[in-house]
Amino acid sequence: MNESRPASMSSFWMPFTNNRDFKAAPRLLVSAEGMYYKDVDGNQILDGTAGLWCVPCGHAQPRIVAAVREMIGQLDFAPTFQMGHPAAFDLAEQLMEYTNHRFGHVFYTNSGSESVDTALKMALAYHRARGEGSRTRLIGRERGYHGVGFGGISVGGIGGNRKPYGPLLPGVDHLPHTHNLAKNAFTRGEPEYGTELADELERIVALHDASTIAAVIVEPVAGSTGVLIPPKGYLKRLRELCSKHGILLIFDEVITGFGRLTTPFAFDYFDVEPDMVTCAKGLTNGVVPMGAVFTKKHIHDAFMEAPPGIELFHGYTYSGHPLACAASIATLQTFKEQNILENAASLRQYWEDAAHSLKGLPHVIDIRTLGLIAGIELQPIEGKPGARAYAAFKKAFADGVLIRTTGDIIALSPPLVLEKKHIDELFGKLATILKNLD
Ligand code: PMP
Repeated sequence: MNESRPASMSSFWMPFTNNRDFKAAPRLLVSAEGMYYKDVDGNQILDGTAGLWCVPCGHAQPRIVAAVREMIGQLDFAPTFQMGHPAAFDLAEQLMEYTNHRFGHVFYTNSGSESVDTALKMALAYHRARGEGSRTRLIGRERGYHGVGFGGISVGGIGGNRKPYGPLLPGVDHLPHTHNLAKNAFTRGEPEYGTELADELERIVALHDASTIAAVIVEPVAGSTGVLIPPKGYLKRLRELCSKHGILLIFDEVITGFGRLTTPFAFDYFDVEPDMVTCAKGLTNGVVPMGAVFTKKHIHDAFMEAPPGIELFHGYTYSGHPLACAASIATLQTFKEQNILENAASLRQYWEDAAHSLKGLPHVIDIRTLGLIAGIELQPIEGKPGARAYAAFKKAFADGVLIRTTGDIIALSPPLVLEKKHIDELFGKLATILKNLD
């Protein structure tokens, strides 16, 4: 294994990276185990973000490593077009069990972005298969992040991710976001204010007519735009309105799936049943790229009941890749054997108290928490949005903690196998950094 610095870093065009700045002072990770990364200089770095929200079971879980090794020696690749392999079917059954059979079917992708575009396409094709082809509009939300495919950025609500690529998909509307610092700052759990923002869907329905709207897609908790937690009752209200108007409700659970809120999925936590769920990341504990879309039985049935032929013209070469399936089956086993959700739930209060202990430190204008997520919003430096949090991120890495920042918000989402001592280390170091931040 190469643990030394690369001879050159000029050719890799890094994703979502300030490439010029990075290459002047690179951060290089060479190994990982449990709650820690090790960098190229041999420093231990506490993983406060589970990689990119994708390593709920912690790094180098032996069962997952072994399962991938075994599968690669047995079946390196198998198509799932007009054929398949046992692990793909076994995993699908296990995933349906993991969701308490609230869904009937699972479609495999390779990422969160692909899951989102798959779900949007399924929604459009579903209505068409049922003879309601007029339902072509898609509704997203301001400050929503749904990956980087053209469908995902169209329903997404982040200007910077959309503007360079316009005009994007036609017929897309956005609900307002629910973030309200004036009314909800320093809330623990779901904020009180903003439930009625779900009713904006009625405004969109009145403008276009329900018969033109295919689906609403939201993240139950928006992660990439800075931990935006839904107001009490908001998601239930969205569900009611979608049902009333025959609109499909899609939850993008790419970050909330697999335990982030200490329940298997956010729909469990909020007790709201969407028609489809997109997931990725924790599905394989981040070990092999994989995403999935869970659909209610009626979605799949609509295709089965349509005239015979191939039902959904969609799929990826690597849908249900054997290595990904093996990693995912082992991930589900690891969740069970190591009581990972129970561990996360037992630390919820401790986590919340530790996060909120940063209140009063310089620049901190909001702290919000739910499950094992925390968002810490900093006062932006005038004329330099994002600069203060980015400085905190760089300082944290140098001090041995991995945090994530988006704009001036620090987002924390550790592996769910953490212990109290890791929470102490994370927030202890963060407090020192914030005290010394310009
Ligand atoms: N949806 C949501 C809610 C996400 O948070 C992300 C990634 N952070 C994606 C979609 C895209 O996933 P990927 O990067 O695997 O394409």
